[in-house]
Amino acid sequence: MSATAETRKFEAEVAQVLHLVTHSLYSHKEIFLRELVSNASDACDKLRFEAIAHPEWLADDPELRIEIAVDRDARTLSVRDNGIGMSRDEIVANLGTIASSGTRRYLESLGERKGEANLIGQFGVGFYSSFVVADRVSVVSRRAGEAGGVRWESDGKGEYTLADVDAPARGTTVTLHLKPDEDEFLQDWTLRSLIARYSEHIAFPIRMQKAKEGDAGGEWDTVNSASALWTRPKSELSDEDYQGFYKTLSHDYSDALAWTHNRVEGNQNFTSLLYIPSKAPFDFGNARDERKGLKLYIRRVFIMDASEQLLPAYLRFVRGVVDSDDLPLNVSREILQQNRQVERIRGACTKRVLDLLDKLARDDADKYATFWGAFGHVFKEGIAEDATNRERIAKLLRFASTKSDGATPTVSLDDYIGRMPVGQDVIWYITADSYAAAKGSPQLEALKAKGIEVLLMSDRIDEWMAGYLTEYAGKKLRHVGKGEIELDAEAGERHKAAEEAASDLVARLKELLGERVGDVKVSKRLTDSPSCLVLDEYDMALHLKRVLKQAGHDVPGGAPVLEINPAHALVKRFEAETDPARAEDLALLLLEQAQVAEGAQLDDPAAFVQRLNRVLLGTPAA
Ligand code: ADP
Repeated sequence: MSATAETRKFEAEVAQVLHLVTHSLYSHKEIFLRELVSNASDACDKLRFEAIAHPEWLADDPELRIEIAVDRDARTLSVRDNGIGMSRDEIVANLGTIASSGTRRYLESLGERKGEANLIGQFGVGFYSSFVVADRVSVVSRRAGEAGGVRWESDGKGEYTLADVDAPARGTTVTLHLKPDEDEFLQDWTLRSLIARYSEHIAFPIRMQKAKEGDAGGEWDTVNSASALWTRPKSELSDEDYQGFYKTLSHDYSDALAWTHNRVEGNQNFTSLLYIPSKAPFDFGNARDERKGLKLYIRRVFIMDASEQLLPAYLRFVRGVVDSDDLPLNVSREILQQNRQVERIRGACTKRVLDLLDKLARDDADKYATFWGAFGHVFKEGIAEDATNRERIAKLLRFASTKSDGATPTVSLDDYIGRMPVGQDVIWYITADSYAAAKGSPQLEALKAKGIEVLLMSDRIDEWMAGYLTEYAGKKLRHVGKGEIELDAEAGERHKAAEEAASDLVARLKELLGERVGDVKVSKRLTDSPSCLVLDEYDMALHLKRVLKQAGHDVPGGAPVLEINPAHALVKRFEAETDPARAEDLALLLLEQAQVAEGAQLDDPAAFVQRLNRVLLGTPAA
């Protein structure tokens, strides 16, 4: 061994990934090829980008390419690129540790999802997937601009070796020594069909040697289309082309739901190809700050993933490519942040996505429902985030309602307005913890009795969104559980009479409930239930207050108002009760059942149960 040779241990997490990969990826073992080709393509992209500053790195061998070669006697398969390459330090950092944030997140998420380890196939674990089909992998690499190369080798069990080697040219060669029963990956047609399936739209030529009987190999030919698909005219592209490119781009197994491909020419020229996936990637959380999937190219050169600069956060589910003719190649992330041209591209991309969603909503309700199910909760953020497009975004919202079937959100604000009876000028909605709590809320009773539709909102984000969506198409939106409800003149008269008749009753309740309530009032909302809680028009909904409190925040606002229904038998019973202890039991139960109906946790559930039992059994109060 030379002085430069050494053996090192993998970082503990790598060993864990390798173990998982080799044991759970078996049903998708062929994805290793997609991963290696994708790494090779990234390496070519990086070189082309770095060659802007160092043209000599590219000049000696300017045709960037990926080569796949097999050696049937040695039973090896290798993937070679003439891209950026890796130095010794880079190889240690990239292949000896968990370099990919995706893989790291995958590992973390396995905490709760151990049983779904086969999901790893959909996830892409990059280079390490080689060990599913190989019992030994060697990587020889030479960094562009450096003289010597480095060889990394491992059996994927816990250690790897490193040695300095002579590498004839820049780039990386990954060689897999196939396991005994993996001969299929030595077959020419297997490899060609895998490339067609997964890597057809890689923008660099992927070349293979023509199979020749009894010979080490014949001529090389290119096995993919190797063009930047987005630069081709729409008329030449089929749906299969678009779907194939989507899969190469996103590593998604499923088809995209829809896409929009546009070329803008004028004082600024750029091309955009934007996709809406059909389902959320499995690690698509609410991480607004870590966004990926929209690639910025400048005159065909990949610059960086610039999702954050090119689209607002509420469209972070979009995948695709933007290729600008005008931006300077040496653009940095900081410059992108405040560049007027980029701002215009961002505005145009946002408009394209909204146009696409409009079209989907109009022409294909099923697809739109799929979109809404996967990304609706993210899209809603746009109401707050994008004031310019608020009306357009609002048009695309979907809700459950008292007039739709089940919890699936299918009702648009336009549907709602179209069904509004003459004389109604407000769009009513309610927010709650769950669909059931919203649908069953006593606050809806009077509106329901009058046949007025109410939108039922139960996404966490809804209350926040509604704060920004105060009006649509000239109609105010109002929460049924907040503020005064104005009914027609006749009902107003009746209410006034009821209030007068119940004034003693209300005064007694106030006295008994004290600080627990902000006030006690005769309700205009209730028809069937004895009581409910309501808020001021500008108060935060109770379920949201709970969330904030649990998270340790100070929550503004006092106690909610208790509204009662004097016509209800339980309220009548309270009114007639002469025993002070029993009257107190009944008063508290009126409050507590309003809290339960609203989804709250009672302060003292045991006391509530005892109280309830005393009233049910008619036993004397404590
Ligand atoms: P990912 O591609 O998701 O980052 P991988 O495990 O596949 O994860 O690769 C880890 C890193 O190793 C890559 O991010 C890249 O920096 C480096 N790498 C892998 N293959 C190559 C290659 N062919 N040329 C240059 N660098 C590579």
